[in-house]
Amino acid sequence: MISKDLFRRPNLPLESVGREPGRDAQPEVKCPGCSRSLPQDELAGNLHVCPRCRHYHKMSARARIAMMLDEGSFEELDAAVVSRDPLRFPDYRRKLDEAALQSGEAEGVVTGLGRVDGLRCGFFVMEPGFMMGSMGAAVGEKITRLFERALRERLPVLGYTLSGGARVQEGILSLMQMAKVSGAVRAHSDAGLFYLAVLCDPTTGGVAASFAMQADIILAEPGALIGFAGPRVIEQTTRQTLPEGFQRAEFQLAHGFVGRLSPRESQRALVSLLLRMHAGGAA
Ligand SMILES: [Zn+2]
Repeated sequence: MISKDLFRRPNLPLESVGREPGRDAQPEVKCPGCSRSLPQDELAGNLHVCPRCRHYHKMSARARIAMMLDEGSFEELDAAVVSRDPLRFPDYRRKLDEAALQSGEAEGVVTGLGRVDGLRCGFFVMEPGFMMGSMGAAVGEKITRLFERALRERLPVLGYTLSGGARVQEGILSLMQMAKVSGAVRAHSDAGLFYLAVLCDPTTGGVAASFAMQADIILAEPGALIGFAGPRVIEQTTRQTLPEGFQRAEFQLAHGFVGRLSPRESQRALVSLLLRMHAGGAA
C-alpha cells in the first residue's frame, strides 16, 4: 500500500514565499463586507483591506511575514513539525492533506526568527488556510519551541493569533497544548522578556483562552472576532440575547480585554515602537 505521506506537501519555504497559496486560479475575490468583486492583486496591494468598505480580509501567514518583518530577515523554525493523526480520527488525514494543499503550509502556524526595523524577535503567525489555524499538537509544539528559543536568546516574541480554537480531531492532545504553551509563555515572561500579540479575526477557543491573552500587550485588528465560545453557543446556553457587536475587537477594547486596536496601515509602525520601547538595552 502506498502511504499517503508520499503526497503530503513538503514545507519548503521557497515553494510558498511570494505567492498567495491556493488563490492562484482566482484573480477576483468577493468581499464579504460589501459583496463586490475585487481583483486579488488590488486587495493584496492594500494590505488585504477592502478599499471600498474597509473589511479586513484574512491574510496568509506568508503575507503577514512580508508585511511585518524586514525583507529577507525571516528564518523559519520547526517547519517539519506536523500533526500525525494520533487518534486515527475519521477523515483527519484527508483534511490535513487538503489543508496543506490549500494553504501551501504544513501546519496551522508558521514560526521563526526575524527582524522588525532591525530589531530581532521571535515571530509566530497562524495560518487561516490551514484548518482556520486550529491548534493541534504540532501547532502547540511549534509555538512552545519558539518561546523556549526566544528565552534562550533573550528575544521578545511577536505573535499573530488567528484560530477557530483547539483541533477537535486531536481531542485531549489538542487541549493540553493550552497548558504547554502557557508554561513556555510564563517562563519567557518570568525572565523579563516581552511578548506582544496581535489578535486577528477570528481568535477563539483554546487559543483565545491561552497564549492569545497572555501577552504583555494585546493589540487587535479592527472587527476581529475575539472570544472563547462563539456568540451562537453562548446565546443557546444562556438563553440571553447578546449585545450588538458582542466579541468584536471594538467590544473587547471597551471591556478591557484588548489594549488597543491596530489598523493594518499603521500596524508595523506601532509594533516596531512597542518592541523598541520594551527592548531594554538591546534597542
Ligand atoms: Zn468590501
